[in-house]
Amino acid sequence: MALPEEFTPEERKVLEPFFTNMDKPVFCLINLPEVVKGAVFSRYSRSAKSLRRTLLDDFIQDKKMGFSEIVGNPTGGASGLGGAVRKAEAFYDRVLVGYGDDSVAELAGAHVGIEGVSNVVTKILEDARLTSPLEKSTRYVWFDQKENGEYLFYKEPAIMGSKFAPDTLRLMNGLFDAYARLRGPMTRFVEEKFPLEEFGFRDPETGRDVRFKDCSDEARKKQIETAYKSTVKAQTCDVLRGLLPAATKTNMGLFADGRSFESLLTKLYSSDLAEARELAASLHEELKKVIPSFVKRAGPSKYLSETRAAVRELVSTPSPVSSPPLGERNEYSASETANKNSSPPEGGRGQGEGGSKVVLDYYNTDAETEVLSAILYAVSREPFDALRRKISGMLAPERARILKTYFGSRVNRRDKPGRALENAYYRFDILADYGIYRDLQRHRMLTQERQALGVCHGYETPPEIVEAGFEKEFQGCMDQAAELFRRVEPDYPVEAQYLVPLAYRIRWYMYMNLRELYHFVELRSAKQGHSAYRKVAQEMYREVKKVHPALVEPMKFVDLNSYALGRSDAELRAESKKARLLDV
Ligand SMILES: Cc1cc2nc3c(=O)[nH]c(=O)nc-3n(C[C@H](O)[C@H](O)[C@H](O)COP(=O)(O)OP(=O)(O)OC[C@H]3O[C@@H](n4cnc5c(N)ncnc54)[C@H](O)[C@@H]3O)c2cc1C
Repeated sequence: MALPEEFTPEERKVLEPFFTNMDKPVFCLINLPEVVKGAVFSRYSRSAKSLRRTLLDDFIQDKKMGFSEIVGNPTGGASGLGGAVRKAEAFYDRVLVGYGDDSVAELAGAHVGIEGVSNVVTKILEDARLTSPLEKSTRYVWFDQKENGEYLFYKEPAIMGSKFAPDTLRLMNGLFDAYARLRGPMTRFVEEKFPLEEFGFRDPETGRDVRFKDCSDEARKKQIETAYKSTVKAQTCDVLRGLLPAATKTNMGLFADGRSFESLLTKLYSSDLAEARELAASLHEELKKVIPSFVKRAGPSKYLSETRAAVRELVSTPSPVSSPPLGERNEYSASETANKNSSPPEGGRGQGEGGSKVVLDYYNTDAETEVLSAILYAVSREPFDALRRKISGMLAPERARILKTYFGSRVNRRDKPGRALENAYYRFDILADYGIYRDLQRHRMLTQERQALGVCHGYETPPEIVEAGFEKEFQGCMDQAAELFRRVEPDYPVEAQYLVPLAYRIRWYMYMNLRELYHFVELRSAKQGHSAYRKVAQEMYREVKKVHPALVEPMKFVDLNSYALGRSDAELRAESKKARLLDV
């Protein structure tokens, strides 16, 4: 690697605050506003200078650049915004003249906090695949807090301005009241069903199963007790979250680069949902303070909103070639208790257990040959077709030897098999509750689309609700929501989604390659996952195993077991890690 350039002591003094080191060929940029980091980086493509020299000559010492004003007062925080933003924007525009290529907008990013956003719009935000979101989880946090005496849900302006407002408020408060009311009794039900004394944990240090009553070490007992409490809480949250309406407000953080934010803003501005358009304006205003030039072109896209409306029109107007109009088909009777596996099978290949359904709708039948050819491609000089012919002529033991060699010995799920697996494709048509959809939608290395949230596919009733004797109350809440949804939807087809509790099923497809399937299934079938999305991941594995057994045989870290209180070991691991860190 290149030896770093020599700088005079004066030059070093000026530059040192902005680099993690001054004497190595590899360094990080620090203490600089995003806009300057992006601008300096963009010079790499047009300059022979080192980055440190570029920052010094072309930015710091070039008075025209106004470097000291911008760096002295990055975004000026809440108070000094105006001047600095304008300078930063002009600064960037000056630097970017002649670049034109959008990718420069990937050279800087922002961390954005978005609070009080509904569980309808979070899914638009998290649909953006080149962003890194993190959301307050309905699995570990209670959602029955009140502010000024009111539960935290989004009041959709069109519905609240309509005759449905009183019923909507009654439904929302009813759902939150039920959630809050069942919190105590459901927690006690879980504790009685899985008493601490008897409950077994996997000891993170010894790997052996330990039970509270057999543990003599007071410190460990304390850890087990704390882990037990958070495990019971997570289980109770998992069971009750189905009562929360999609309008429930939550908080999330989003880190992304300028280019991703620009496309996200354009999508939000072009949304049918007032909440999304409102959020676009406030998000835009804040991003302009940090990465002004990168989000300059963001705005409503007629193309996006018009094509979406035109496609939606397709399903509601009879087509000129007189085929029956597309539309809703009631898959399930209104209330469906999980594990009552009596639902009519939906044809097609593969059927999930319990309420959720996973259908392997499409896969490339020659996937094994494609993957094997790709394995050899990277280590040969022959064209793909020649390798495909070679593989097609091979006997099964030779094909198995190549696969075994390629997968090697995986020690844990982070030993990720290579890109050859990206030559096999699977499309899963999934029907599961909105709560589960929200969790699984977070995966980005795939193509997915959802249908609008509604009540036509029925809802999931967690078995614990039935066992604990709360089925009637749960069903009452679900039926009330469905009744109002059906009245509101004809007038407000998009906004009516806010009324739907997370327990109602939604249909979506996930189209992924085999490499993502390995990541997805091994992560989402893990013990600490929500029991319902573990089933979806397990079903996806079983469906692919039926058609390509050799390709998923090495998926050693899929967990096909079912567990009581699945989060227990993860919670105890977290407690003992915390204890160790505190000891240091
Ligand atoms: C048990 C559990 C608890 C969770 N709790 C929460 C929670 O409380 N709140 C919350 O918001 N989320 C939570 N998540 C979701 C999690 O944070 C991820 O968003 C989700 O698992 C999908 O992301 P991924 O990176 O695993 O997979 P994918 O997005 O499918 O990515 C697959 C692989 O591609 C790579 N990749 C993809 N995108 C990027 C990128 N932008 N940068 C770098 N590498 C990338 C990664 O190597 C990744 O392993 C939880 C997940 C699990 C399994």
